[in-house]
Amino acid sequence: MQPSSSGSVQLSGSCLCGGVRYRAALPAYHASHCYCTMCRKHHGAAAGSYVNVASDGFVVEEGDELITEFASSPPARRGFCSVCGSSLYWRSSESPESIALTLGTLDQDYAGAVEKELFVEQKPGWLPVK
Ligand SMILES: [Zn+2]
Ligand SMILES: [Zn+2]
Repeated sequence: MQPSSSGSVQLSGSCLCGGVRYRAALPAYHASHCYCTMCRKHHGAAAGSYVNVASDGFVVEEGDELITEFASSPPARRGFCSVCGSSLYWRSSESPESIALTLGTLDQDYAGAVEKELFVEQKPGWLPVK
């Protein structure tokens, strides 16, 4: 995987244990931080951070059998590694053409801008460093 600055045409990522490795074709778009309760629970963090890519360009190169999906709401599925628990992606049957990869599992810094924050009203009060 080459860094995006060198003209790479794909993103690559992996889970904490390294059992799952994936790549995704660019472009990537609509990067976001989501503070909804479900994202916070799934990530064990202040937010779920994502970037969208086309589903047909998303390829699990290793560890497909390790990925478990949790249906967090009727249309949505959250994929995670069943060995280490890393949150890998969010996808919805309402928008099957795209998949939201978790920014934290990318193997390189995401070079694009994070464009929006979702469910800001659910942002935890302990998030800002005081
Ligand atoms: Zn893993
Ligand atoms: Zn969310």
